[in-house]
Amino acid sequence: MSRLRTLEDLGAVGGSRVLVRCDFNVPLADGAVADDTRIRAAAPTLSELLDAGATVVACSHLGRPKGKVDERYRLDAVGVRLQDVLGRPVDKLDEITGESVRDAVESAAPGSVVLLENLRFDPREEQDDPGFAAELAAPVTAYVDDAFGAAHRAHASVDAVARLVPSAAGRLMQREVEVLTQIRDDPRRPFVAILGGAKVSDKLGVVNALIDRVDALLIGGAMAFSFLAAQGVEVGRSLVEPDRYDDCRSALDAAKSRAIPLRLPDDVVVAPEATEEAPRETVSIDAIPSGAIGLDVGPATVASFADTVREAGTVFWNGPMGMFEVEAFAEGTRGVAAAVAASAGMTVVGGGDSIAALRRLGLADAVDHLSTGGGASLEFIEGRELPGIAVLMED
Ligand code: ADP
Ligand code: MG
Repeated sequence: MSRLRTLEDLGAVGGSRVLVRCDFNVPLADGAVADDTRIRAAAPTLSELLDAGATVVACSHLGRPKGKVDERYRLDAVGVRLQDVLGRPVDKLDEITGESVRDAVESAAPGSVVLLENLRFDPREEQDDPGFAAELAAPVTAYVDDAFGAAHRAHASVDAVARLVPSAAGRLMQREVEVLTQIRDDPRRPFVAILGGAKVSDKLGVVNALIDRVDALLIGGAMAFSFLAAQGVEVGRSLVEPDRYDDCRSALDAAKSRAIPLRLPDDVVVAPEATEEAPRETVSIDAIPSGAIGLDVGPATVASFADTVREAGTVFWNGPMGMFEVEAFAEGTRGVAAAVAASAGMTVVGGGDSIAALRRLGLADAVDHLSTGGGASLEFIEGRELPGIAVLMED
């Protein structure tokens, strides 16, 4: 069995310069960090390296600047917040690589942080360009990847750079891999997965992978309507992807032939439009009016999903049960979140919107593990190789 290299594998880092790939892709508002969860999540690894006497060169992407400088996506606000969180000086640079970066890193005191500019300001980052990786590696002696949320991308700061200097996973990455490996390979049973969210096309891969692994698969959110419509259920104007109906039917057949319950909503909350004021009603799944949009799962569905979750040894949840951003359609997500939070089993929640929903409901602390990667955690559970993890495995 190959093993993930961790900070221990780097040996003593006192006096060395360590490039740390972080996930500082945080929401900004009015030039400040609106939610610093990801910055706080990076602190354990950064503090451990700094306490050991390393100089940390932190780097991250932010948003989608598409390979050029975009003033909206500079990391200055991140640097300000990072300095507060770490309680150590952070020298935010306006460049990513080059002479000025080398000078700043070489003159930085051990125990201090240099923060590079947004990696995606350089088009070579997303191209996994070896030349760009060499420039990133030039001022450092080791590399640590703590950006699990970017591990499914073969980008220069995730992949190519890790081949140039001694490299290892940070604590956040390490914990993600430990928890997700356990639920992928050796979950305590019964293993119940709950999937929701908007696009069935995003989730079919994980649906198929989970059918082989779980004891029950509960599906809500808009994605449920494609599964229902694929079986001829009238879903009104609910969000569907008809070009995926064949895939939905194949998944339903696969679940059936393996005798894995794949459960869809029994009732839904419908409205003519997705607003707080719209008149809404709860209807049985076989009674959706033709002009209505299904925007949440109903109470009978919540109760039956909650019963299954209560018995679970492991719960993996990705994707809200409805359009929870609109309070009128948040009840299903709230009910399922409460059931997951109350579960005595190992509970793991992944996905940006799912975690945002848990936080809004004040239930984030009741879950065993909040996975910081949406796409990355789904691909991991699917059993796919993630470039950013593969490169950190010992052969
Ligand atoms: P995550 O970020 O947790 O992976 P997704 O991005 O897949 O989740 O899905 C979240 C989105 O799905 C939310 O914006 C939510 O409003 C939307 N959604 C869930 N159910 C419905 C529905 N019935 N109709 C329309 N949108 C929905
Ligand atoms: Mg999302």
